[in-house]
Amino acid sequence: MILPPATLGMLGGGQLGRFFVSAAHEMGYKVWVLDPDPASPAGQLADRHLVAGYEDYAALDQLAAECAAVSTEFENVPAGTLDYLAKFIPVHPSAAAVAVCQNRIAEKTFLADNGLPHGPFAAIHSDEDVAAANAGLFPGVLKVARFGYDGKGQARVASREEALAAFHKFNREACVLEKLLPLDYEVSVVLARSESGAVRAFPTAENRHRHGILDVTIAPAHASACLADNAQHVAEQIAEKLGYIGTLGVEFFVTRGELVVNEMAPRPHNSGHHTLDACVISQYEQQVRALAGLPLGEARQHSAAVMVNLLGELWYEGGTHEGKYREPDWSVLHAVPGLRLHLYGKHHARPGRKMGHFTVIGDDPAAVLERALAARAAIG
Ligand code: ADP
Ligand code: MG
Repeated sequence: MILPPATLGMLGGGQLGRFFVSAAHEMGYKVWVLDPDPASPAGQLADRHLVAGYEDYAALDQLAAECAAVSTEFENVPAGTLDYLAKFIPVHPSAAAVAVCQNRIAEKTFLADNGLPHGPFAAIHSDEDVAAANAGLFPGVLKVARFGYDGKGQARVASREEALAAFHKFNREACVLEKLLPLDYEVSVVLARSESGAVRAFPTAENRHRHGILDVTIAPAHASACLADNAQHVAEQIAEKLGYIGTLGVEFFVTRGELVVNEMAPRPHNSGHHTLDACVISQYEQQVRALAGLPLGEARQHSAAVMVNLLGELWYEGGTHEGKYREPDWSVLHAVPGLRLHLYGKHHARPGRKMGHFTVIGDDPAAVLERALAARAAIG
């Protein structure tokens, strides 16, 4: 077990890393963050912020010398970086697990190989692959295999011709072609798994997206108990098959009543933010615990919760780029009972950029949802 006042390392300085730093500090650890952005949200809180790229081996050597173990908060850390650090200190999740989650082809192949539910897809490496794709995949979605997020690097394609055009627009980078599924709704499971194989899953949550970006998370999900349990079970199988250690997010589609895995995130997940306010132990503290080899905490959710993402457009009058830039009036939110506001300390708001979120908690799920949506309407 790694115990305070040890120093933990975090690769990535975004908001997920920032909450990890806070959780680790609460528990008495020090944290070093590696992120090339000098203004990164996690770097601001870290005991030391190494402003360096993920393949800067001098910085990695410093991290390995100071930290007792290292984790990551975003899936695009080069697997080689994780492998390199693992020569000196424990790295959780492992390079192998992250490599599966950071490439949509590897991810879908992993699901298929392990008999886990996934939608129809084809790996696209060349024009010939587009020509050979099963006609049943149209209408579909073409997604770049790597570095896509918040709906970026995706194109809806009605036909083979459109898929070819989109593949060229993506500079013939490796892609997956997925069938466009009719979605009843979307859910996710966030869980933590320890080195001993113990798993603690948070209750299944329901996610609503806007323009491809998560907008609102409702937790627990309104889904049937059977579907919610099944989602947890699938997420646990994924964690086991990956030999996963740390906090893992699994996104699902519910299509015609059936659960299908959409994608996995080898880190805490946006749809688990509410665990900060509505669960005994948050997804971030679980990440600290799993990394440090402590027993996992209780994932029980003590209150109904609704989380609302605050995107950069909120900083522009009228919600568009043309509007005047100004700070939203936060006092409106602070007046709402059961609401907690979390801002990430990002210096500049761009439309679509995740700047903060709020969570409303309470006893009655319907009332919580109503209050959260009213609060969003009032601030927007
Ligand atoms: P990201 O990495 O941007 O989160 P996702 O693959 O999760 O990418 O896609 C973002 C959202 O787009 C999904 O949550 C879903 O709402 C929609 N979407 C993606 N793929 C499909 C699909 N095959 N069928 C229907 N909707 C989809
Ligand atoms: Mg997604």
